[in-house]
Amino acid sequence: MAMLLMGLLSCLILLNSCAISVISWQPNDQDASEMATLPDYDQYLGEYLKPGDSLALLLDYDGTLAELTSHPNLTQMSGEMRQALRNIADSGKAFVAVISGRDVDGVKEKIGLENIIYSGNHGLEVLYPNGTRHNQGIPNDVAGNFDKMIDHLNREVVHHGSWVENKRVSITFHFREAEQQYVEEMARRAKEIIESYGYRANEAHASVEGKPPVQWNKGLAAEYILGTSYDPSWRQRKVIFAGDDTTDEDVMQMIKGSGRSFRVTKDKALVTNADYKIPSVDAVYHLLKWIEARIAG
Ligand SMILES: [Mg+2]
Repeated sequence: MAMLLMGLLSCLILLNSCAISVISWQPNDQDASEMATLPDYDQYLGEYLKPGDSLALLLDYDGTLAELTSHPNLTQMSGEMRQALRNIADSGKAFVAVISGRDVDGVKEKIGLENIIYSGNHGLEVLYPNGTRHNQGIPNDVAGNFDKMIDHLNREVVHHGSWVENKRVSITFHFREAEQQYVEEMARRAKEIIESYGYRANEAHASVEGKPPVQWNKGLAAEYILGTSYDPSWRQRKVIFAGDDTTDEDVMQMIKGSGRSFRVTKDKALVTNADYKIPSVDAVYHLLKWIEARIAG
């Protein structure tokens, strides 16, 4: 009997160790596919950016430098990403500008580095490292409607998990946490309300943005930042941009032919102005590490 029990016990131990070893051999499909699709930046940029070149590096924030989350307040940039960005900004070989849909002080707070140009509200606000600010002019009658527009949105379309982000000169109506059955109608009505107050409405990631009717976008903001940071011959300079959203397409269009741009997306069918698609925030981190090493010469 004792022999039988010992035999049974050793069988169980063997089975257990087999099970553990089987589990440890299971590949993580997500990691494996991510590794396989990590971009080859030598191939993409090797001819464009030579060792020791100086560079203007323009970046979006949400979905590019930091993973998207259910609430913008929860979004955080990793310590590794921050360090890579700091190394590039402090290298003396590059200037870095982050152009975000957030308000300019909000994006600066998220990134927390001094030696960077920050632009908020899709380029309507620019904040330079020396504290100088530039704001695009917004017509007074439209600016006067801003609070009324927010009140109206709060009254009518903020329910079942949706909410309005007040960015001082523009708004974002978020419905990524809203119950699915209400999303289509609340997005349609939000657009109507935004437009009724003289603002422009456009759809973004699970949201509708309301911006002042100023002929301005991230592309024009990028051009303005490059023009004020370099002499007018900046088109001869090396410019790299990465962004994940439709609003970033204006920057990609603006530097097309002279710079290099990356659209962060997993959608292989997506039509973009970008020179290359890259799959993830992690791929952006590897882009920064590649640039950091390259400009060091
Ligand atoms: Mg983004």
